[in-house]
Amino acid sequence: MRRNRKAKIVATLGPASSTETTIKALHLSGVDVFRLNFSHGSHQDHRERVEIIRRIEHEVGHPIGILMDIQGPKLRLGKFDNHSVELVKGDTYRLDLDEEKGDQHRVSLLHPEIFAALNVGSELMIDDGRVRLKVTEATDQYVVTQVMVGGVISDHKGVNIPGVVLPISVITEKDRIDLEYSLSLDVDWVAQSFVQQPEDVRELRTLVNGRAAIMVKLEKPSALEHLDEILELCDGVMVARGDLGVELPPEQVPIVQKHLIRKCRQVGKPVVIATHMLDSMVHVPVPTRAEASDVATAIYDGADAVMLSAESAAGDYPVQSVTMMDKIIHEVEQDPVAQNILDAQRPDPNATTADAICNALQKVTHVLSSTATVTYTSSGSTTLRAARERPRAPILSLTPEIKIARYLCVAWGVHPVLVSVANEDANLMEVINTAKDIAVREDFAKLGDAVVIAAGLPFGVSGTTNLLHVAWID
Ligand code: PGA
Ligand code: MN
Repeated sequence: MRRNRKAKIVATLGPASSTETTIKALHLSGVDVFRLNFSHGSHQDHRERVEIIRRIEHEVGHPIGILMDIQGPKLRLGKFDNHSVELVKGDTYRLDLDEEKGDQHRVSLLHPEIFAALNVGSELMIDDGRVRLKVTEATDQYVVTQVMVGGVISDHKGVNIPGVVLPISVITEKDRIDLEYSLSLDVDWVAQSFVQQPEDVRELRTLVNGRAAIMVKLEKPSALEHLDEILELCDGVMVARGDLGVELPPEQVPIVQKHLIRKCRQVGKPVVIATHMLDSMVHVPVPTRAEASDVATAIYDGADAVMLSAESAAGDYPVQSVTMMDKIIHEVEQDPVAQNILDAQRPDPNATTADAICNALQKVTHVLSSTATVTYTSSGSTTLRAARERPRAPILSLTPEIKIARYLCVAWGVHPVLVSVANEDANLMEVINTAKDIAVREDFAKLGDAVVIAAGLPFGVSGTTNLLHVAWID
């Protein structure tokens, strides 16, 4: 089961995509990692999806990644007497801790910590920024605001407060329960919402305790201010453009996106571009040209993966959305300009043996026009260092650990394969022959092709990558 592309597809499952038939069609059309969004659905729903994915994985014989996404402190208004009210620019409007239903003058915002953090001048964005309020009086029980941009607000609409670092843990009680539950289902990645500061990631790391990899969702400006430290603490990044584009002026989102992709490649951690990529495909079977261009841009920039949210979770055309994404990625990757851009942006190797080997791997691959590279990995680390080089040929990542194989599904260019040979007793010929056999079996090489292999002696020990070998298929 080989893909005709190197960048990956993450797709969110939801009501439109929960049967075995649909999930299998999504995987066969191109989904490498499935996202379970814990902002929606019951534990039972998510468990059934995990069981289906694992059955398909077994049937197809290729690892599939599962990313669970915790909701985090999504702030919401209370309810209204008549479900909604319309606010007009210039109106005075109050938000408070009173549980009474809202009206034309006030509504509840039942998050006491927010009132402690709001000041005169703070701005609140309601319903993805459609309605904007500015605080004119701040107390620890309520705020009075002036309506800056009017519109209709209704029951439970979301609230973003861009400029303010809320004095709260971004891991809520619900998140803790969801996290333990999903870890018991053996998910591979946990995506952390609304990260504000490095401490948030540290807290999640302690809770996860090595049971899954951590993907930080960058959707708060304060997280961008602590980017370097956050990147050190996490295993990967999601550019969560939905909330990010509310918290930041939309014109800054493309620039932040480009910088984040480059930065993540520099540190060698996978980066996923998310939200609204093919948004109109929620309702129609073709994307707008601007959407096709958006996916293409992420690929030209070197993103590891692009993600579908509502398109695959709740839309009318989940499979078509994946097929479309797959085609766009494939087309872009055929363009020599795309590889030239990746080559031009190659970060320098660190002064480590593994980086020196991976840098050489990329060069040898290019010189010999080899059709595949192979990395032996036990922690995934060598494979990610190789992916950081964005070599011209795909990376077959051979590992004895199913958990590592699934974790690597999100990484650019990586085709993970489970092998048993990579243990400490394996000899060199065995290791080379296994790499050749698998490259042929998985359809990455044929007679006369060169396969470039990175491995470490002793085998099966993490952090020993010190060997580069060119094998010709004979
Ligand atoms: P969400 O995250 O879909 O969980 O809100 C993605 C985003 O904000 O873009
Ligand atoms: Mn979000």
